[in-house]
Amino acid sequence: MARVVVVGAGVGGLAAAARLASAGHRVTVCEQAARIGGKLGVHAARGYRFDTGPSLLTMPQVFCDLFTATGGPLEESVDLLPVDPIARYRFPDGTRLDATGDLAAFCAQLDSALGGGAGADWRRFHARARAIYEAVHGPFLSSALDGPLDLARKVVRVRDLATIAPWRTLRGLGADYLRDPRLRMFLDRYATYTGSDPRRAPAALATVPYVEQAFGAWYVRGGLGVLGEAIAVRAAERGAVVLTGADVVGVSTAGGRASGVTLASGERLPADVVVANADARHLYGDLVADRRAGPASRRLRRATPSLSGFAVLLGVEGATSGLAHHSVLFPADYDAEFDALFGRDPRPVDDPTLYLSVPGDPAVAPAGHEAWFLLVNAPRQGQGDVDWTAPGVAEAYAEHLLALLAARGLDVRDRVRYRAVITPADLATRTRAEGGAIYGTSSNGRRAAFLRPANRSPVPGLFLVGGSAHPGGGLPLVALSARIVAGLIGTA
Ligand SMILES: Cc1cc2nc3c(=O)[nH]c(=O)nc-3n(C[C@H](O)[C@H](O)[C@H](O)COP(=O)(O)OP(=O)(O)OC[C@H]3O[C@@H](n4cnc5c(N)ncnc54)[C@H](O)[C@@H]3O)c2cc1C
Repeated sequence: MARVVVVGAGVGGLAAAARLASAGHRVTVCEQAARIGGKLGVHAARGYRFDTGPSLLTMPQVFCDLFTATGGPLEESVDLLPVDPIARYRFPDGTRLDATGDLAAFCAQLDSALGGGAGADWRRFHARARAIYEAVHGPFLSSALDGPLDLARKVVRVRDLATIAPWRTLRGLGADYLRDPRLRMFLDRYATYTGSDPRRAPAALATVPYVEQAFGAWYVRGGLGVLGEAIAVRAAERGAVVLTGADVVGVSTAGGRASGVTLASGERLPADVVVANADARHLYGDLVADRRAGPASRRLRRATPSLSGFAVLLGVEGATSGLAHHSVLFPADYDAEFDALFGRDPRPVDDPTLYLSVPGDPAVAPAGHEAWFLLVNAPRQGQGDVDWTAPGVAEAYAEHLLALLAARGLDVRDRVRYRAVITPADLATRTRAEGGAIYGTSSNGRRAAFLRPANRSPVPGLFLVGGSAHPGGGLPLVALSARIVAGLIGTA
């Protein structure tokens, strides 16, 4: 039985803790914040309960596997509800499109909403995306990847390299299949699900819309935060101890391997194994002094962190008719958004895509009210000249977004009874992700999506779990990273 310290109680840390405790290890989780969950955050005020991070769960089978492997089915812990349509899209020309998980229905809708053979185009694209998913799922998403050589070996072993086309961008692949510019816009958005620019992110991200359609989109009754709480409960049931307010300031080594952590209080927790759920940049930049971590740290400093997000939480009085659970309202010029976020002079986007999540769940708002979560892509705190903490900046941007929302047909300004703003700077403080980067490093560049920091660090006994490590960000991949790490550590 090994003594394991997990640094961070995000979904990755908690899932790893549940698995490792189930395997017989003595697990302590140290979370610097006052509550667990990390980016899977919850903001509760005046009867509203907002998810401040994820609002859409995909690949639920990954969480079914986590719960089954640690003692009992997921359905006994949380109530998973399918979301259909997955999202309602509105394009700049006013066209509306309900993305549904039923491929035939979606294609029929594409034909009627967009015309021009859009349904057949998407069907062909979907088949290609499925082939990419099947090629990458086993070797890349579900297995450890130990750096460029390992990547090269795996790529060579992948039978149909032309399917993955690592030399193509998502934008480029879309252009091959999708003739309608609105459908290409729809596809582009999926690059931002890994904090990336579709013009530079790899074609392999076609797997993101594929998994959404193939495995559905899901909501957790009470809000997605309930899922984090359920994993924490499961970890505790299996014997893991979860400490909040436990700020790890250093990972120590002895005899050439990780030997424990030191807390800000000065307390030292000895360990045979340390699992870092903290952002990899924070880990290698601030917590590990071992020189063997040097190359990994330098590689990370050269990589571009993913983009961040700016969220406005709105407690809204009354019911809004015609609103889907998730809405995406595109701007007139989508590339201007990517230029603002990823160009030489990063800045908040003037006319961004507006993403809105309004769960029709009575548990998240007082009767007769709605809990609105408005999210836009945003540059990180400290990127270029961006300072989200400067007086008035956040509030002025929130006002601007509400005016944009009104201009796109959803004016709720006279119904707002509660409002709070979460900036990239807040995200950085709350989760210690650099500048509030949501997904660790961005996937911009041909190999970036595949070459995140490895789960096995160069320091024996130190492992990385979570969205900034392999295989990447987003709830399902983070939970997969926990499975990979638990597999690497093994049983007691
Ligand atoms: C606005 C937003 C929207 C999103 N939407 C979606 C979505 O719809 N669907 C989806 O699947 N994903 C979404 N994501 C991404 C998803 O939330 C993340 O990929 C996932 O929650 C990351 O989990 P993690 O375990 O990797 O890390 P984190 O959640 O970042 O957890 C890391 C934890 O480590 C702690 N920590 C860091 N340093 C220390 C230290 N020194 N000592 C102790 N503790 C430390 C942090 O406080 C934090 O709790 C979204 C994220 C955001 C922010």
